[in-house]
Amino acid sequence: MKLKALIIEDNEQNMYMLSFLLEKNNYEVFQAFNGLDGIKAAKEYLPDVILLDIQLPGMDGYQIARELRKRNDLNSIPIIAVTSHAMVGDREKAMASGATGYIEKPIDPDNFTQRLESYFSEELLQRRNHL
Ligand code: MN
Repeated sequence: MKLKALIIEDNEQNMYMLSFLLEKNNYEVFQAFNGLDGIKAAKEYLPDVILLDIQLPGMDGYQIARELRKRNDLNSIPIIAVTSHAMVGDREKAMASGATGYIEKPIDPDNFTQRLESYFSEELLQRRNHL
């Protein structure tokens, strides 16, 4: 079984890029383009990791992270915020909202997966390595 990654991102190009990189690295990808769909997908698919954009229509990434952290079944899933380089304070706010880590945009395709997996627990890395 592949690891499941949920991407919550409203920008088509970023969604395409993140999906491409994850699929290339053997992840099963689920996509959501806004917070409500993202939370619904998280409940439904119980992903192993969530990539979370901050600037989204409606609910922003901070709100989404806080919502996800309220739920027992979703509480331990690593949430990686995808933050804009230009927005000072995004990271800190994301971490305060319950994110496990962050990756800055623009995404660097050469080290994206490495950055992502640096936030994985030992248990998740083990599962990843045994696929
Ligand atoms: Mn966005």
